[in-house]
Amino acid sequence: MATILVVEDNPANMKLACVLLRRVGHNALCASDGESGVTLAKAERPALILMDIQLPGMDGLAATALLKLDPSTADIPVVALTAMAMKEDQDKSRLAGCAAYIAKPLRYLELYEVIDTLLAQSPGRLPGQALETRP
Ligand code: MN
Repeated sequence: MATILVVEDNPANMKLACVLLRRVGHNALCASDGESGVTLAKAERPALILMDIQLPGMDGLAATALLKLDPSTADIPVVALTAMAMKEDQDKSRLAGCAAYIAKPLRYLELYEVIDTLLAQSPGRLPGQALETRP
């Protein structure tokens, strides 16, 4: 079980992401814009962040870049979520510091695979700690 922050402005997408995370035992935190996402990330230090790219105000790339500049949040892996499955967006998300990229609509197998891979690589993970087993 890990605490995962979802930054997403679309209520239906937010609900889907949180349902999928909680279904496999993760603790989901929610923020609906970049500013509150950054604030929540600093306060709660989640194990991973799912970051929508298109957000009102500060976009997901700017929010990710801010998190990567702050030593207290720099090593939290950020997964970019975007409806625009374009190579250019993938490149931009990597440049902003995102560890991975998922095109919406979310597909649960891909989501779980990306999350498991990043959590397994995370420096905060305890040695020998098993990955979650699926129901
Ligand atoms: Mn959005």
